[in-house]
Amino acid sequence: MNQHRLVKNPRSDWQQSLADVITNPNRLLEMLHLKPEQVDLCAIDSLKFPFRVPREYVARMRLGDPRDPLLLQILPTKQELSAMPGYSHDPLQEEKANKLPGLIHKYKGRVLLTIAGACAINCRYCFRQHFSYEDNNPGRAGWQKVVDYVAADPTINEIIFSGGDPLIAKDSLLAQIIERISKLPQIKRLRIHTRLPVVIPQRVTDELITLLINSGLQIIVVVHANHPNEIDASVEESLFVMRRAGITVLNQAVLLKNINDDPIVLAELSEKLFASGCLPYYLHTLDKVMGSAHFDVEISRAREIHWQLSQILPGYLVPKLVKEVPGVLSKVPINLDINF
Ligand code: SF4
Repeated sequence: MNQHRLVKNPRSDWQQSLADVITNPNRLLEMLHLKPEQVDLCAIDSLKFPFRVPREYVARMRLGDPRDPLLLQILPTKQELSAMPGYSHDPLQEEKANKLPGLIHKYKGRVLLTIAGACAINCRYCFRQHFSYEDNNPGRAGWQKVVDYVAADPTINEIIFSGGDPLIAKDSLLAQIIERISKLPQIKRLRIHTRLPVVIPQRVTDELITLLINSGLQIIVVVHANHPNEIDASVEESLFVMRRAGITVLNQAVLLKNINDDPIVLAELSEKLFASGCLPYYLHTLDKVMGSAHFDVEISRAREIHWQLSQILPGYLVPKLVKEVPGVLSKVPINLDINF
C-alpha cells in the first residue's frame, strides 16, 4: 500500500492539517500496521500530556517498524509513567523566570513570549510538557503588558516567539504582536522557535513570509528536527522558501537515545539541513523532565558522539553540544574531554 496515500491530508491548508492531527495512538498504530504490544503503548487515559501528531509527519514513518525514529519521538509508552530520581516537572525552573503571563525573561538582552499554548505535535521528551499554558495566557489585554515590560527595559533587543509552537497562532495574532514590538526602537531581532516548518511544512505560506520580512526586524527562524527522515521534499521547500526570503534559518536538535544517538545519523541530518539552507545550531542534551528518562544519553556518550561527528563533517555543519542549567545565563557548552 502506498504510505503517502494512506496518510495524506486531502487539503493542503495548514489550518486544516492542524485540525486533522491524529490524537489517538491506536489509530496511528493501525495506520502504521503495528500492534500496541509491539510498542509498549501506555493507556491513553493515563496521559497528562496528550498525544498529537500531524498526518504529514506520519507520512514519513516506516510502515510496520516499531523502532521507527519518528514514531519513537511521539509515541507514549509505559516507560514515561515511571518516576525517576532527578527528573522533575520544571527541569529548567522556568517558573521563576515567568515574569508575566506570556513572558519568560531568562537571559540578558532577550525575552521569550509564549505565543501559543499548544503544538501541532507533542514530542514525548519536551521539557515544557508540564508547563501551565492556561495560567500563562495573557489574553488580548495582557499582550500590551508584555510589550510595556519590554519597552521599559532598553537592554532587551531581541524577542523570541516560543510556546507551545508560536506558528500555530493565526497570522492575525502574530501581526498584532509583531506590529507592537517592531515599534520599540531597541528591538533589532525577532527569533521564532518552531517545529511547524518540519511537521506541517505548508505553514510557511507567502502571507507568513511577507508578514515577517515586512516587520523591519531581522528574522531568525529556529526549526527543530532530530532525525534526517524528518526532512522530505516538502520540508526542504519550506526551509528554502524562508532562506530565499533572507531569513536566517537554524536547526536545534535534542540528542535522544535510540533515535539519533549515532554520529552517522546526525551527520546525515546536518547535510540535509544545509542542503535546504538551514544551519545546524544546537544539539541539546535532554532536559530531565518527568517521564523522559528513556530518552537520556549519558554525557560521556554525548561527548563521544559529538567528537565523532566533528570528525565526519566540516566545522560549520557540527551543531554545538549544549545543556541548559537552571539559573545559568546561557546554554552551557559540553566540551570535549580528551587529552592529546
Ligand atoms: S514542538 Fe517543541 S514545544 Fe512542542 S512538544 Fe515538541 S519540543 Fe515541545
